[in-house]
Amino acid sequence: MLSAKTVEIKSAKELALMRRAGAIVAQTLQVLSSSLRAGMTTLELDQIAMRELAARKAKPAFLGYHGFPACLCVSLNKEVVHGIPSAARKVADGDLVSLDFGCVVDGFYSDAAVTLAVGRVPQSSRKLVEVTRESLGKGIEAMRPGNRLGDVSSAVQACVEANGYSVVRDFVGHGIGRALHEDPPVPNYGKAGTGLRLQPGLVLAIEPMVNAGAAEVDVLEDGWTAVTRDGSLSAHFEHTVVVTEDGPEILTVANG
Ligand code: MG
Repeated sequence: MLSAKTVEIKSAKELALMRRAGAIVAQTLQVLSSSLRAGMTTLELDQIAMRELAARKAKPAFLGYHGFPACLCVSLNKEVVHGIPSAARKVADGDLVSLDFGCVVDGFYSDAAVTLAVGRVPQSSRKLVEVTRESLGKGIEAMRPGNRLGDVSSAVQACVEANGYSVVRDFVGHGIGRALHEDPPVPNYGKAGTGLRLQPGLVLAIEPMVNAGAAEVDVLEDGWTAVTRDGSLSAHFEHTVVVTEDGPEILTVANG
């Protein structure tokens, strides 16, 4: 069981650094979103992310993390998370493209993800994207002092399942700050009214990974790319969020 002792509460000074890192993450995701076109390689997206980071004098969070070879995760269609950018992989019209990105500023991390639809995408795929985004919003809304971690998890799960989709179990959100992944783990499923009590200064990366079909995923031979076992589409949204006295504050916003 999770001990409150292992969960770090951030100071105002630490939050200022995380806000700066969060703004850089959000700005970079905006540049990637407006650059994304059918015909681009996923490596080109990684190069754009690297360039934007360098221009802002920030460091990538993912490059070298447990050996991950890029600064951006690019996961297409049935790929859930952790897709590796490649010069051999082109984005096609009709693809769902999930971009997961994090950076470090003066030793403090922020992390966010979006799923984008490229060109002509069926309405059913767009709905998966919108529900995943909405489920993240529901989780964020529950990040209030006095609520419990299970309130966040169950809010995400309820939104996803009400729409007939599945929440991935094998990967979860996380605390974040001095490290990319800190306690507590933040599952996208759970029971309201249970778990860690939320308090001001607690920072969580909430990241629903939602499959159109069943929840099961497999990891490919590259050791990273997670795909839906049934081949169904998947979407992913993430924000780094701090609990304040007044409710949630999203740190991964472009004008933060
Ligand atoms: Mg994350």
